[in-house]
Amino acid sequence: MLYDLIIIGAGPAGITAAVYSARKRMKFIVLTGDIGGQAAWSGDIENYTGYQFVTGPELVSKFEEHMRKYSMDFHENEEATGIDKSGDIINVKTRKGEYLAKAAIIASGKVSRELGVPGEKEYKNKGLTYCATCDGPLFSGKDVAVIGGGNSALDACLQMMKIARTVYLINNTDSLGGDAVMREKVQNATNVKIYNGAKVRAVTGDKMVSGITVRTKSGEETIPVQGVFVEVGLVPNSSFAGAVERNDRGEIKVNCRNETNIPGIFAAGDVTDISEKQIIIAAGEGSKAALSAFRYINRSR
Ligand SMILES: Cc1cc2nc3c(=O)[nH]c(=O)nc-3n(C[C@H](O)[C@H](O)[C@H](O)COP(=O)(O)OP(=O)(O)OC[C@H]3O[C@@H](n4cnc5c(N)ncnc54)[C@H](O)[C@@H]3O)c2cc1C
Repeated sequence: MLYDLIIIGAGPAGITAAVYSARKRMKFIVLTGDIGGQAAWSGDIENYTGYQFVTGPELVSKFEEHMRKYSMDFHENEEATGIDKSGDIINVKTRKGEYLAKAAIIASGKVSRELGVPGEKEYKNKGLTYCATCDGPLFSGKDVAVIGGGNSALDACLQMMKIARTVYLINNTDSLGGDAVMREKVQNATNVKIYNGAKVRAVTGDKMVSGITVRTKSGEETIPVQGVFVEVGLVPNSSFAGAVERNDRGEIKVNCRNETNIPGIFAAGDVTDISEKQIIIAAGEGSKAALSAFRYINRSR
């Protein structure tokens, strides 16, 4: 079957692209790992217009409800492993099959960067996690460490300080980054201990995590914790993108119409080189990409 459009990813960008594509009556399929992407991992969202406060999972369920109003082919747990173009036809491969379309939108977002220290792989899902929203409640009343110093780490810290007994925030630079509002809340919390200029050397434990070893200016110490939340940044999900041009951070280069270097392949949201990465921006970019794809498909009519 030849689709008009293949949408890769169902985070805010992909879901919004799907809504716009459905309303343009395009014949399309969505291929995605999950529904919601990073937005589903966000704790408190206070900057999505129309919602003064909403949690990530609540906002994602609203997005999904809106998208499900329309009919489309939707394949969850089916990630793109390759994309190329032959003649005018775009071919997207997954582990389960191959899909053909006149156009494609890559909206595959970002995924957590790994810490790269001994113990990380061993204790993944045994006390070590990359998602405070998903796994935070498992650590009620326990001592945990959040690794990182930017917005993601602050967000995890804000969530965990309401659940855990003590939160150790381990930041490898001299001062915390991120938004001032979030930073102030974390700095004023009585159960958060901030380690600036501290590098994690190892995650330790037996069957489950029991501590982290950190190096500070005053030497090396092991902090006993039962949970470790790794929040050290994100990398774009663009390794499957073949000949689609990327910058040195792996982000797909797009112009203001969401066109990539390959005509017919568009990209939107956090996977691209746009300067700001936010839910409302990704959603807006998804809508723009769908409208550009629609114009591209109908260019010769
Ligand atoms: C902890 C945290 C808190 C945040 N808080 C806020 C906030 O308060 N306000 C705000 O505006 N923004 C916040 N953000 C940022 C915001 O979540 C992102 O900017 C936004 O989700 C990006 O949307 P996206 O659709 O581009 O990508 P993503 O949300 O990353 O979604 C990508 C989608 O692509 C899918 N995918 C990945 N690889 C493939 C593949 N190979 N094939 C098919 N599908 C694939 C994924 O399964 C997912 O569905 C936060 C982010 C984090 C991590």
